[in-house]
Order: sequence, then C-alpha cells, then structure tokens
Amino acid sequence: MIDKILVANRGEIALRVIRACREMGISSVAVHSTADSDAMHVRMADEAICIGPPPAMESYLSIPAIISACDITGAQAIHPGYGFLSENANFVRIAEDHSLTFIGPSAEHIRIMGDKITAKETMADLGVPCVPGSSGGVPDIDAARDIARGIGFPVIVKATAGGGGRGMKLAHDRNDLEVAFSTARAEAKAAFGNDEVYIEKYLGNPRHIEIQVFGDGKGNAVHLGERDCSLQRRHQKVLEEAPGPTIDDKTRARIGSVCADAVARIGYIGAGTVEFLYEDGEFHFIEMNTRLQVEHPVTEAIFGIDLVREQIRIACGFPMSFVQDDLEINGHAIEVRLNAEKLPHFTPSPGRVTQYHAPGGLGVRMDSALYDGYSIPPYYDSLIGKLIVHGGNRHEALARLSRALGELIIDGIDTTVPLFDRLLRETDIISGDYDIHWLEKWLASSADDA
Ligand code: ADP
Repeated sequence: MIDKILVANRGEIALRVIRACREMGISSVAVHSTADSDAMHVRMADEAICIGPPPAMESYLSIPAIISACDITGAQAIHPGYGFLSENANFVRIAEDHSLTFIGPSAEHIRIMGDKITAKETMADLGVPCVPGSSGGVPDIDAARDIARGIGFPVIVKATAGGGGRGMKLAHDRNDLEVAFSTARAEAKAAFGNDEVYIEKYLGNPRHIEIQVFGDGKGNAVHLGERDCSLQRRHQKVLEEAPGPTIDDKTRARIGSVCADAVARIGYIGAGTVEFLYEDGEFHFIEMNTRLQVEHPVTEAIFGIDLVREQIRIACGFPMSFVQDDLEINGHAIEVRLNAEKLPHFTPSPGRVTQYHAPGGLGVRMDSALYDGYSIPPYYDSLIGKLIVHGGNRHEALARLSRALGELIIDGIDTTVPLFDRLLRETDIISGDYDIHWLEKWLASSADDA
C-alpha cells in the first residue's frame, strides 16, 4: 500500500498532485530548490525537503537528490508531474531499483515513445495512422533529398529525441533542405545531446488533435476523447479545448478505439496521450506523451473524472474505476495557459506578484501556485497558472472564460492574460475555425497593425 507520495515537481502541477493525495488520505512530500523555499507546493504538502540549488539540473532533475529525498522521508512512490523527470526511462529504472513505485508507465514504454522514430514504427505496427515520412533516422543530406523527393515538398526535419517544439525545421523546397537538415541536427545535438533527425511531410493546415488514453497494464485500456490544441505559438500550446470543435461522435469513437486498442496491446499502464495532426478528415500520428499533460483538466471537466487519482489508484494496484461505456462527454471545456511573459514578444517577466485574485464561480477552475507577495523565480518555465472553464456547450464555455478572465487579477508582473482577452473577440476563435498556424499568422498581422 502506498501511504506517502513524493511529488518530483514544482508549481501548479505539484499542487495538483498534492491535492489528489490529500483527498485520497495519502501523505505528500514536496521537493524544492533553494529558489523555491517559499513556493506554494512547499507550503501545501505535508512535508517538504530541499533538494538543491536553483538550476533544475542540480535540483528537480537530480535523480540522486530525489531518490535520497524518498529515502529520508519514507515516501514509497514518486509522482513526476509533467516535464522534468516525467519521461526519463533511466529515472524510472533507478526508482524501481530502490523499490520505489513510479506513478506512470513502465521504463520500457517511456523509452519506446521517447524516441520518436521508434514511437512511429511501434504505432504504425499497431495500426495507428502516421504522417508520411522517412522510415527511420536520416543519415545525411543525400538521403534527406531522396526522402523529400519521394514524399514531396514541403517537408519538416524533426529531432528523434525532440520535445517542447525544439529541433524542428521546415523546408519548402530543395534549396531549403540543406540548411533545414543541418540546423535541425545542430539544434537537436545542443538541446537533446542526440543529433538524429527524421523527415515528415509538412502538413499545411492541420489541427492538433490528441487522444487521452488510460491503461491498466493488464491489456485493458480506454480512451477519454480528444483535446484540440491547435492554438500554438512556436509549436507550443496556448489554449486547449475538449471536445474538439471539428470532431463528431463517430470520428471520436473511431480514432479513440484505434488508440485504446494500440495501448492495450502493448500493456500500457496509466495515463498517456496520443498526438495527431488532423487534416481533411485524416489523422496522422506525430508522437505519444507517456505522462499527464498540462491540458489534462479539460478532459477531467467533460468526463467528470480525476486523472491523477486514477494514476495513483493504478499505481497502487487497483483496477481502473471506469470502463469505456461509463465514459460520457458532458458539455465543453477550455483551458488557457497563463505565462509570466511580457507581450508582444513573450519575454519572460519573473518578479513579485503584488496582488493575486483567482476567478471563481460555476464551472471555473484555476490551477495556479501563485499567491499575494509570491516572487516568481527566473529559473523555470514561465507557466504560472491554467484557467479552465466548463460549460454546457462551447458557446457557454467561451462566455464563462471571458467572464473569468475579467475577474482574474495578477499585479506586479506582466502576463499573457491580455492575449486571451483579444483572442476571445476574434470570430475564428468564437467559431472554432483555426488550425495550428492560425495564432502565428494572427500575431504577425497584429504586429503589422501596431
Ligand atoms: P514536440 O515533441 O517538440 O512537441 P511534436 O512532434 O509533438 O513535437 O510537434 C509539435 C507541433 O509541431 C505540432 O503540434 C504541430 O504544430 C507541429 N508539427 C509537427 N509535425 C508537423 C508536420 N509534419 N507538419 C506540420 N506541423 C507539424
């Protein structure tokens, strides 16, 4: 039995996990760097332990520090949240060697999906439709030219070890390819220590549709519908909604069961997300994330379930608390990611929050680690909160989002809140008519107007 969980993360996601632990009667242990001594997750957990100096490499990413923290506090399990060590197969193996339960999938599944080429091959074998492209790593520019000729331009060169939208380069034609190939490789080497790249057909107007899956590790799995995360800047999600405005029940059931079957067949355990680009009624797999996603609350809202509680239950050896037929969509949910960034260039804006007031009321959820007087340290991701709204339908959810944003007060720093105030007045956003390129184009044209 697990009665104490160490949360190997910080910020809003650490709070999210601590809250689930508390509701389940499980003790929580927060870890923190010296820069986070006053952070909300430290205050909210039952126990807290300092694991190192501010740089993440020496604290939140330090495997020895985290294993030692489990040892000192007697935590039997680790919840990794997202980011940091959440998709580090080596960390999972080390935790298991220390008889600690990792709340997430197996090291092997993390390894397979962490390498995007292996992930695509595995998913293609399991009957999941993939983006046309190279059938493995592309060793040199001659091979790149052959592949591009085969699938046709434009193409995108992507890092096998990629993540966070980095290491991706677009080539419109033969002339672009050489530069795209060498810069993608160099970026991949610098960011991930691995310069292997692969090539995909670049899709012109797709939507980013991802399917939430959940497996019990014993060959059973369900899907929890889709999230549309097409509103992106630099390949990073900005707003997510569920259900997707362009996905009908039949399409959802079809792609959902393909994904659930695929993960069931590999014996996947816990929460996962199968990401697709969706264009002209066709799904093209791009990657699978073997962890809880930032945007998981929109799924929780429309299905009325607690994904973190479910992750913990599965890790404790309990069966899943639902089967596919229990899962019914209720209404519509939208999440906006709030960053400590100064518009229009999205420059980081850490500093002291002089006043904070979270919105409330029916259908409003604010996941944030902010409080009055909190100083946002400059060392970590700029995400400072997620505002999630749920309504009977999309129209109601949009009205609720606008109302909730109006109630929100974050003073003392710059945030991306004004971006959403403006977006909510755009007819394409109101009608749900946007693809993965919409936001970049809109930002460029608003910069021209200014
Ligand atoms: P990462 O792991 O870095 O997030 P992904 O493979 O998930 O990378 O892709 C992130 C985003 O990049 C996608 O949501 C999409 O906007 C864009 N993208 C990726 N592959 C393609 C492609 N083949 N064509 C067009 N856009 C793409």
